[in-house]
Amino acid sequence: MERTIGLLGGGQLGQMLCEAANPLGIKVVILDAEKSPAKQVNAKNDHIDGSFVDAEKIRELARQVDILTVEIEHVDTVVLEEIAEYGVEVARPDGKKVVKRVEVQPSWKTIRTIQDKFLQKDHLTKNGVQTAVSKAVQSTAEDLQAFGKEMGYPFMLKARKDAYDGRGNYPVKSASDIPGALKALKDRGLYAEKWANFKMELAVMVVKTEDSTSTDGSATVAYPAVETIHEDSICKLVYAPARGVSTKVQREAQELARKAVGSLWGKGVFGVELFLMPDGELMLNEIAPRPHNSGHYTIEACPTFSQYKSQLLSILGLMPSFPDSRIPSMFPATIMLNILGGASKSAHNEIMKHAIAMPRAALHMYGKESKPARKIGHITVVADSMYSGEALMQPLISMTDAMRA
Ligand code: ATP
Ligand code: MG
Ligand code: MG
Repeated sequence: MERTIGLLGGGQLGQMLCEAANPLGIKVVILDAEKSPAKQVNAKNDHIDGSFVDAEKIRELARQVDILTVEIEHVDTVVLEEIAEYGVEVARPDGKKVVKRVEVQPSWKTIRTIQDKFLQKDHLTKNGVQTAVSKAVQSTAEDLQAFGKEMGYPFMLKARKDAYDGRGNYPVKSASDIPGALKALKDRGLYAEKWANFKMELAVMVVKTEDSTSTDGSATVAYPAVETIHEDSICKLVYAPARGVSTKVQREAQELARKAVGSLWGKGVFGVELFLMPDGELMLNEIAPRPHNSGHYTIEACPTFSQYKSQLLSILGLMPSFPDSRIPSMFPATIMLNILGGASKSAHNEIMKHAIAMPRAALHMYGKESKPARKIGHITVVADSMYSGEALMQPLISMTDAMRA
């Protein structure tokens, strides 16, 4: 492949992106700390050691590549805007400086809108996508009390930026939780969200294939709607497809996710998190402008078209079209279980051995040091029915529960 991709972030999502890039002959250059998971599976010499929030390091990466993309949204979008709009200066062998054009996909505008969760919600509401009612608040007891009075308890207090795996969320169950919430999230820009009493959490991976925003969502392709189960605000399990959900809701979830992604700018793959409410209505929780934990299952379920391959081909402008704008799963049922670091550094050894011995399980370890509650790997089980998949997965779930920190 002629064009080289520069990746901001080299965690497990970047690692699996590189695993998808290798057989396609696509070169990926990574900016992250030395020996980060993505660098471990990509033996190139020109990776950059440094931080994906360091503007000069991002420019250094841009000089080596044709397209910049991200595996994390918490990056410096000011420098991405500068690079996308004006290019980056490179020195020719004779010492003369010239400006090189570099694409940023998805657009810096999309990353900037999404990385501030309140701006993201505002954007979605303006584009006709229903989200939980939310309001920007000051870090004061008065502001939070006023929100509780207006919207009721419980409500969710959220950090606007740098939030992941629930680190940035604080459920405020009653007015007496307010001091604790302010202490936990102090010094961060905040907003408050009305509690969503959902009956299930769904997620849909969406691929955006065109740069222009399209009102009918025709430039987007959806994977199946899956069910996600969170424990302590960290994704634990993914059931694909979502269990006990009608074809109508399955379709509506895909359409809503495509509509939301269609309102954003640029190309790439997006993880869309949804709440399914008791009355059957769907509400959008948040969007990730990159591959997503809820899409790991696609490596096995869509063997010729994982979310990682879609990310690569969409940003390169090589994504083929799919009938009905949908990418089907090859299995009636797929279940993914995250492996989190346990109480001891070797707590996960037993589950690894068990998974390796299962013909229907695929083990993915990320090469990360085990720390309590850190995502260090996952297991995907493929099955002929959800019932048989659940039976295969049950001992593995029991093992992860037993090793919890
Ligand atoms: P991620 O790792 O998905 O990026 P995050 O830190 O950005 O997580 P959210 O997705 O906002 O956090 O919330 C994490 C979880 O908390 C949700 O998946 C859901 O289970 C719960 N949650 C979030 N917002 C609400 C809400 N308004 N009402 C009820 N539960 C909520
Ligand atoms: Mg998030
Ligand atoms: Mg989330």
